[in-house]
Amino acid sequence: MGGGDPIERRPIEGSDAIEPVARGDRHERLDPSALRAHKRGESQGRRVVEAEHAAQERAPRKPHGDGVGDAAQLRRRRLGGASDEQHIRQPALAGRPGGTPGCLGHRGRVGVEADDESPGIGRGGTKDAPAVAGPEVDDHPLVAGDQVGELADVHLVDAPADDGTHDEQSTATPPRYSRMRLAVRPGAPADPPTLRLVPDILPYVPEPPAVRPWDPRAPHVARTVANLIGRVRPDLRPEHVGSTAVPDLPGKGVVDLAIPAPPDDIPAISEALLEIGFGRQGGTSPWPSSRPMLVGAIDDEGDRFRIHAHVIPATSNELHELRTFRDALRRDAGLRDRYVAAKQRIVDGGERSGQAYAVAKGDFVSDTLLAIGAWPRPADAGPPIEPGATIGILGGGQLGRMLAIAARQLGYGVAILDPDPFCPARAVADHQVEAAYDSVKGARELAAGCAVVTYELEHVSAEAVEAIAGRVPVRPGLAALRATQDRLAERRFVREQGELTANWRPVHGLEELSAAAEDLGYPLRLKAPIGGYDGRSQARIAGPDDVPAALAAVERQEGRARPLLLERELDFEAELSVVCARDLEGRTLAYPVSRNVHDRGILVESVAPAPIDPLHAATAADIAGRLARALDVVGVMTVELFLVGGRDLAVNELAPRVHNSGHWTIEGAPTSQFQQHIRAICGLPLGSVEPRGAAAMVNLLGTGPKRAARLTGLPEALADPSVAVHVYGKRAVFDRRKMGHVTALAADGDAEAALARARTAVGRLGWAE
Ligand code: ADP
Ligand code: MG
Repeated sequence: MGGGDPIERRPIEGSDAIEPVARGDRHERLDPSALRAHKRGESQGRRVVEAEHAAQERAPRKPHGDGVGDAAQLRRRRLGGASDEQHIRQPALAGRPGGTPGCLGHRGRVGVEADDESPGIGRGGTKDAPAVAGPEVDDHPLVAGDQVGELADVHLVDAPADDGTHDEQSTATPPRYSRMRLAVRPGAPADPPTLRLVPDILPYVPEPPAVRPWDPRAPHVARTVANLIGRVRPDLRPEHVGSTAVPDLPGKGVVDLAIPAPPDDIPAISEALLEIGFGRQGGTSPWPSSRPMLVGAIDDEGDRFRIHAHVIPATSNELHELRTFRDALRRDAGLRDRYVAAKQRIVDGGERSGQAYAVAKGDFVSDTLLAIGAWPRPADAGPPIEPGATIGILGGGQLGRMLAIAARQLGYGVAILDPDPFCPARAVADHQVEAAYDSVKGARELAAGCAVVTYELEHVSAEAVEAIAGRVPVRPGLAALRATQDRLAERRFVREQGELTANWRPVHGLEELSAAAEDLGYPLRLKAPIGGYDGRSQARIAGPDDVPAALAAVERQEGRARPLLLERELDFEAELSVVCARDLEGRTLAYPVSRNVHDRGILVESVAPAPIDPLHAATAADIAGRLARALDVVGVMTVELFLVGGRDLAVNELAPRVHNSGHWTIEGAPTSQFQQHIRAICGLPLGSVEPRGAAAMVNLLGTGPKRAARLTGLPEALADPSVAVHVYGKRAVFDRRKMGHVTALAADGDAEAALARARTAVGRLGWAE
């Protein structure tokens, strides 16, 4: 039975999952002739002591005349002095701390900065971005045709440093070689195998951030590492990115490699990197396993170079950002100077953790990425919408109501579409189209009088939105709607962007569900892909006995046509959410993270800024910005997250809209989430998201049977002059219906005190029998 790790550490799911090849499997796949040759090598008295593991799977190689020995010579020349870079000696680097413990690379705000920055390498570069030569064209010692995938690693005990492979290295402390590689040429079973020593990737030792001169050996180091990677995965195209890829740019000196990969291949690539000596990233808020950063080091001319290997889903925009940032720095000396000044300020401020350093650089990097065009501009870029124009809102619930209030505050007219003539937004709208959320005719009617249309819920029909999208801008947009309406599509999207989620499977029918449940482990959540909200359309599965009832319950609401989402229930430390806005220029701006408490799927209370590690908060904001850009959102989008195990942030859900957990912004920030959304969809500048101290929001839920809603206790609740009460004006009340909310602020930042006041006020409110 599965279920050891509830988080999706492998970015694979369902029947399309590609399992990494197990180590044991490789023995079976080893070509018999290679095994024979391998054994002969041992019997011939070479210094082979034990086979570490069998051959790596390799891409087919094209025929090539070079023998292994030639390649080895080529490699010796490169390492020993034939390369230009080899002769560029760097003065001894001052103040290189010898391994102060600290954080490893942080995912940072932009991915450019890991422990520091993460620029990389790649073959097939452009003239702006000379690529690091790939193993097959540079000094990769196993050239095309030299073997058929039978490449065995063997341990060499007490490998002599004078083996000859690196004998031209003039270094006081010779590199450590603990492993050697056996290369076997196909079709020549009589030839003895050639053994060659290969340096391991050495352990990574974190160092406090520092701004040191650029080391001209960095590109060579990057290429060497790319070649080492090429031995186990010749299909990969590592690319040198980050500050060490920019000549004359001072920095921490960490050599960053970006390795673009299809999401499904990332687990196998991580394994391959671990096998050549890379380690996993530590720290508080590491990159997730679906977009890992592996860490290591190599020695070059007696100096140790730290390496960050970033395996990046090719489906995300990140590699483009890294390249564009690097190339802008290469071109623009002024930008380099400003960047160095920003780094220096952080280091002078006493920042000791690489992760915090990366976060501190975030604003500079984000602003630069926007300015240099590394962030996508919205496809739907139109002129600003002038006050006096009418904004259409699909949906007239409490979110529509608060959006309408914000729109009116800025001088816009408001039209809503909602089937309920007494819906909460009606009281503040100029006009209502009474039609179902999926009515194409109704949507057309709404759009006819509007300059822009938005939605307050993601369950409006995509067909209705499509029908009007050609006539009037629909924001946040159709892509965001499609990706978030269906939980399965949403999961796939999140995975493609390299973010963590709970382990999940699409399941259809009892048999598939039972098998997937055993595979994932318990407890589980079974969710309808479409239409769920406030915890509806989902069921908890504590153990195998709950499976049939859970399926029946969800199918009762969802029907049997579509696969359902089955996922591990996470034992999270906190539920978090981030409301992030994206404007018509493509700029993203996130509110402080809220920490949320739910009861049976319904939000009960939120506190913001969440009392969590600032690195987690910065990472959550970074995730929200990335996802908003990837979905081409214009307006506000909310990301729900789980904080798990003190370090991982797993995405739960996306909502391309304002969100209950952002209600605190009405009093708690200069710009409410509602006004921010209106600003963004109207092409106006975004407003400040700086919190006014701590804010707590508690929902006012209905109680008892369905009846006419009559609020009681308002004077008592307002007896505390520091609380704000919001009542949504719903005509009927019933148990657990969202009827309003209360917000309390604490200018001194005491969130607990604010929460206590908001709870007290809500406790004084009630509903007449
Ligand atoms: P909804 O659309 O109803 O908000 P969610 O998937 O967000 O659906 O589920 C509602 C709540 O249920 C979440 O806020 C969380 O408290 C809980 N929940 C959902 N999925 C999980 C999970 N995999 N692990 C733990 N709690 C979960
Ligand atoms: Mg939710």
